[in-house]
Amino acid sequence: MNFKQIYLTFSLSSLLLYSFPSHAVELCGKLAQGEILVGKDSPVDVVFKQQTIRRTPQGEFLIAFGRDENSKQTLTFLDDPKNPQSVELEVSPTKWDIQNIKGVPPRKVTPSNQDIKDIEKEQKLVRKALQNNSPQSFWKKGFIQPIQGRISGQFGGQRIMNGVKRNPHAGMDIAAPEGTMVKASSDGIVTLAEPNLFYSGNVVILDHGFGLHTIYAHLSQIDVKVGQQVSQGETIGLVGKTGRATGPHLHWGASLNGVKFNPQSLLNINKANDFCFIL
Ligand SMILES: [Zn+2]
Repeated sequence: MNFKQIYLTFSLSSLLLYSFPSHAVELCGKLAQGEILVGKDSPVDVVFKQQTIRRTPQGEFLIAFGRDENSKQTLTFLDDPKNPQSVELEVSPTKWDIQNIKGVPPRKVTPSNQDIKDIEKEQKLVRKALQNNSPQSFWKKGFIQPIQGRISGQFGGQRIMNGVKRNPHAGMDIAAPEGTMVKASSDGIVTLAEPNLFYSGNVVILDHGFGLHTIYAHLSQIDVKVGQQVSQGETIGLVGKTGRATGPHLHWGASLNGVKFNPQSLLNINKANDFCFIL
């Protein structure tokens, strides 16, 4: 390689570097509380909430906003580590339901000391399962609703149980007859398959890569084991009413790096009708 070629290669690579400013990156999804969004075409590292997040070789990444997320969020693109480019995101508020739930067994609303120990054990197990941040991008396949049925509880609803104010609803409830087959909403690895937890009853958690997980609670039966790889649509268990439930339903939850969001927003991932905008 002569001097001229070296010079050309150098100027071309710097041109490439600077011809992809952060604003050429695309975001798909809704900029609102409780939503997940897919970023596309970022040729450089992306920082969200002080963390450099995973990117596919094609430059795709995931961000999610929790139920009570602040309206001002920042995405930073490390085009040049000495001069990072930040984009301010305006996150719209979502109006959450009030859910009045009656007929909950009293000890599931006001737990005893022994129950509190069981609850702590459950929280530890679930937190650990949701911590995984694996490099496989199973999530790129997109997601399906794990069962069909009436939505009996939306994500984010402020719950009042037997008249007592409780934590907001961290997932979506779909009512269905006991024994209905529950399908994996996308390809993934089973990271939790645990019977008899205080709130969740029999529960399965799937890891879809990049810190994204889905949760399936109150099952009457678990059909998978930890470490098992499942395909989208495969039966992972049956609908039940184990744990804190007043009737048979599936509690379907979703979490990105520990941030719970509305699993319904997964249904648009990598679908033609998803709403995308350029940053
Ligand atoms: Zn639920």
